[in-house]
This record gives sequence, structure tokens and C-alpha cells, in this order.
Amino acid sequence: MTTTRSATSTPSPTPTPTPTPTVSSGAQASLYQQLRGHLATLKLHDAAEHLPAVLDGAHAEGLSLTAALERLLAIEVDATESRRLAGRLRFACLPTPATLADFDYDAAPGLDRHLIDELATGRYLESATNVLLIGPPGVGKTHLAVGLARAAAHAGYRTYFTTAADLAARCHRAAIEGRWATTMRFFAGPTCLVIDELGYLALPAEAASALFQVVSQRYLKTSIILTSNKGVGSWGEVLGDTTVAAALLDRLLHRSVVLNLDGDSYRLRAHHARGEALRATTTGTRQPLR
Ligand code: ADP
Ligand code: MG
Repeated sequence: MTTTRSATSTPSPTPTPTPTPTVSSGAQASLYQQLRGHLATLKLHDAAEHLPAVLDGAHAEGLSLTAALERLLAIEVDATESRRLAGRLRFACLPTPATLADFDYDAAPGLDRHLIDELATGRYLESATNVLLIGPPGVGKTHLAVGLARAAAHAGYRTYFTTAADLAARCHRAAIEGRWATTMRFFAGPTCLVIDELGYLALPAEAASALFQVVSQRYLKTSIILTSNKGVGSWGEVLGDTTVAAALLDRLLHRSVVLNLDGDSYRLRAHHARGEALRATTTGTRQPLR
């Protein structure tokens, strides 16, 4: 990619071809090795790996130096972003591969799809808004929580998934082992914290107090996505203390989006549909399998 310009100011009418001074192939090879060395020193490993292909492509397509450099660095930027995303998803510990894209809105008629689309942008995380998903078992609360958490990780936010029981157990162990402050800092860290399944088990007083501390320290700073099979009116029973429940709800609901999911369990719907289809097959009136 060496270009030479004539030093003469008045171009001759019949330019005689002058031999283009080229860098010897040995010097080229050494420059190439130096460039690879620079990329390796700077830990731009993906750029280093793709250097030969980019140089060949640039040569074949007659790309400018700027365009070739942009192409090379774009490869490194893409690879860095994918690595960071993979790291965020690993850290998030999402329990299922559920995404918002594979959520069937027809099966959740009461749900405002536009609201979910808005939440999928992650803007609510900027205002530390909480999301509460309330409804009976099997209606898709965990699916939506995982989908929202995944969307948050994709949008660049630090995300973590836990269950109320797991959070309580970890706080209990932390208290015994003298790691309370570290554990509280851990639960304060992620921009998006999912606490799944509040209400399935009644929490001992100590666990309710741990949950209250986690909620309090995140209040107005970072978001919580919380799922529960119990309406907020029953949280006093779940937490074993109506005063703690009221204080917790006060903080959670102050800036929040509450999604009430009801209807039939998706698990049972699928189960019933299979049963119906089987019955129809055996009685001769076939229905499509869902
Ligand atoms: P919940 O947490 O409310 O008990 P889940 O989210 O665990 O329910 O849903 C149970 C199963 O049904 C999961 O496999 C989930 O992916 C699926 N499911 C529930 N609702 C839907 C839906 N509307 N669209 C697609 N899958 C759903
Ligand atoms: Mg669930």
C-alpha cells in the first residue's frame, strides 16, 4: 500500500513511467510481524488473528488505509463486546434459556405487551424502578423475569438472578460465617437483581429481615424484579411480620411497575392440550397438537 507522488510541480505532458519505489518483501514481512507484535502487546488478539484476511481484503477491494483500519478494529470491538456479554450472562446465573421473544402473549391475555416491550429496553433500570410479577403458579412469571434479566444483560447492565429462598439461605450462612457485610455488598452490586418465588415458602424472621435489608440498600439506587405467587396483601404472612412486610412493600412499590398475571397455568394448558389431542386421536376427531 505504498503510493508515491511526483516531486515535480509541472506535470510533463507525456509522463514517462517511473519505477515505483517499493518496500522490499523482506522489509514488508518484518513490518507485518511488527504490526502483529503491536496488536499482541495491546492484547488485541482478534485483530491480530484477522490481520492477514483484512490486509488481503483491503488489497483486493482497494480499500483506503482508514477503511482497512476501521474494519480491523471493528473486529476487535465486536469480539470484546461478545466476551463482555458472555461474562455478564455467566454472572447472571439465569436458570432457564427463556427469552422475551419466545413468550406467548396470546396465552397471557391480561398482560400489556407494550409495557413488556418498554421494559425490554432496560430504561426502567436507569430510574431504579422495580418490577413486580404477581400471579399463580405456571403463568410465566419466572419466564418473564428471566427474559427481562437477559434483556438487561444484553443492554449492558450487570444482572443477577436468585430466588427468595436462596437469598435467605445465603444471608443465613453469611451471618454464621461472619461475611454479612460482603454478602450485602454482593446483593447491592447488580443493576438488575431478580428475586424469584417469594411466597412459596414462609420465611423465618431472620430471612425476612435479610430480604428487607437487601431491598432497603437498593432502594432508589438499583432495580429489583420480584416474582410472587401471593398478592401483596398476603406478604405479611409470607414474611411472618406485617410491619416488615409493610416497610418492604413501601420501598418496593414506591417506584415500581406491577404486573398481575392470571389465567391458566401454561404448564397445565400444554398438558391439557396434549390430553385433548390424545383423546381426539383415540376417538377419531383429531385436533392439532400444540
Ligand atoms: P411461574 O413462574 O409463573 O410459575 P413459569 O415462568 O415457570 O411460571 O412458566 C412455566 C413454564 O411455562 C415455563 O417453561 C415457561 O417457559 C412456560 N410459559 C409460561 N407462560 C408462558 C407464555 N406465556 N409463553 C411461553 N411460555 C410460557
Ligand atoms: Mg416461577
